[in-house]
Amino acid sequence: MIDSPKLPESDWPVFEAGWVWLCGAGPGDPGLLTLHGLNALRQADVVVHDALVEPAILKWAEGAEIISAGKRGGRPSPKQRDISLRLVELAREGKRVLRLKGGDPFVFGRGGEEAQTLVQHGVLIRIIPGITAGIGGLAYAGIPVTHRDVNQSVTFVTGHDQSGSAPTSLDWRAISKASQVIVIYMGMRQIGQIVENLVCAGRSVDEPVAVVSNASLKAQNVLESTLGSVVGDVAKSGIGSPAVICVDKSVLMRQALDWQSMLTGEAPRNLDPLGRGRPAESA
Ligand code: SAH
Repeated sequence: MIDSPKLPESDWPVFEAGWVWLCGAGPGDPGLLTLHGLNALRQADVVVHDALVEPAILKWAEGAEIISAGKRGGRPSPKQRDISLRLVELAREGKRVLRLKGGDPFVFGRGGEEAQTLVQHGVLIRIIPGITAGIGGLAYAGIPVTHRDVNQSVTFVTGHDQSGSAPTSLDWRAISKASQVIVIYMGMRQIGQIVENLVCAGRSVDEPVAVVSNASLKAQNVLESTLGSVVGDVAKSGIGSPAVICVDKSVLMRQALDWQSMLTGEAPRNLDPLGRGRPAESA
């Protein structure tokens, strides 16, 4: 049990004045922040965070100024360019600026754009990766994104492009054909369109699908369905964003690996959901 975690002995990087550290905070559960992230929070003068960053994590930034750059209370979110330029400004004021983003900063998080703007303005940066929702969030639901029996590849897809529609630049036919497990971020608003694209491109309506919302948080909610039923099931259940959608058989592994229900004393529903028998002892 740790109350206020202390960093283990190591050569932790020193946050120099005028630098911006771009850091991933993980999907939600504060324990999924990295130690580099904690080291950064401890030294930052100012933390600029997204809406998806858990408030409990911000409490570790003792004494730092906290600036929200996320959409709150129905107000429109600040423009990306304005956020990036604000980071430049803060750095030029000689602050230690921690830019904290949900999940991993370089996975559908515009971290690359922000980092590029900073570098173009001559600001020095450090990148601290985080656990992305499409991997760690699914793990909290008992879904392995790769599983040797089932898939040798996984594809991460964004559910909407800059206009807010299902991305037209994506070749859904190619994705349907070549991708085994498909993990969709930001897909809830366009879920009907995405499912239609996948089915029209040849994926079976019987294919297992899981929708995992608020992954790793107390409010975590998991819907298990199929491509043919997921749109109706989402509407019926009222499950909402933020959510990742996972398509393919690896979703079935949750029947064995739903470790969160084990915490409440439930036994696994099925020890061999893929019908492959027990894993070989060796090999
Ligand atoms: N950089 C983030 C992704 C930002 S895009 C990362 O690496 O995770 C925002 C999308 O991330 C959401 O629409 C949702 O699809 C996903 N997401 C982020 N946090 C989540 C959570 N706790 N539970 C489920 N999905 C989450």
